[in-house]
Amino acid sequence: MSVVVISTGGTIASTKDSGGGASPELTGEDLIASVPGLSDDIELTTDDFSNIPSPQFSISQMHRLSELVAEYDRDDTVDGIIVTQGTDTLEEVAYFVDLCYDGDTPVVFTGAMRNPSLASPDGPANLLTAIRTVTSDGARGRGVLVAFNDQVHAAKLVTKTHSMRLDAFQSPELGPLAVHDEETVRWRASVDPTPTIDVDPETLTSEVAALTVTVDIPPSQIPEPGDFEAVALATTGSGHIPPGIIPP
Ligand code: ASP
Repeated sequence: MSVVVISTGGTIASTKDSGGGASPELTGEDLIASVPGLSDDIELTTDDFSNIPSPQFSISQMHRLSELVAEYDRDDTVDGIIVTQGTDTLEEVAYFVDLCYDGDTPVVFTGAMRNPSLASPDGPANLLTAIRTVTSDGARGRGVLVAFNDQVHAAKLVTKTHSMRLDAFQSPELGPLAVHDEETVRWRASVDPTPTIDVDPETLTSEVAALTVTVDIPPSQIPEPGDFEAVALATTGSGHIPPGIIPP
């Protein structure tokens, strides 16, 4: 079987930097070299898409990534596609790619909560889970998946619930679709495929203000007409807002 690993950066690819933090430096080849227990039956190739911390993703990079995934899906020699990236925006990027993806080749996103210079880095184990997932029977046609901490989630359901913990990625509505159990991936649930959208890159925009509606929010926080192409309000309850912001 042949699997391509598209690496984009993030903690999984980070090494200690001179400022005492960590920054993405490692290539896809480096990531693969860190994974123990790989089967010789799986041929792994790499595509170094970028090496950025994931908060630096732009909407056009997300779109290019979705096109790259679609290209590999059309390549009959590729049986599985893995994307490695930073966890901060993994939920958003994986969901965006899922919305754009109508292929059948399994696609799994993964990353790490601890970089390779820390105790018990989780990147190698997560990448191993991703490799076993894309090559497992039953992975096809499930839309884009997210593998972390020996669990496999649907991109449309998963959310990052914690900034540090290894079990940060959870699907509160349904739980994981599969678990990685020693060498086996056991599928136990599925979700309807996400309806795909045909994205026109010309009309893609990040000019959307996203605002959390808080108790007694000052109306001045609502953008002026024309400031943005749209305003998304994260409201209280099921769409309820304080009366002060109704006029603006
Ligand atoms: N803390 C992040 C990570 O887990 C950094 C990033 O998203 O690039 O990878």
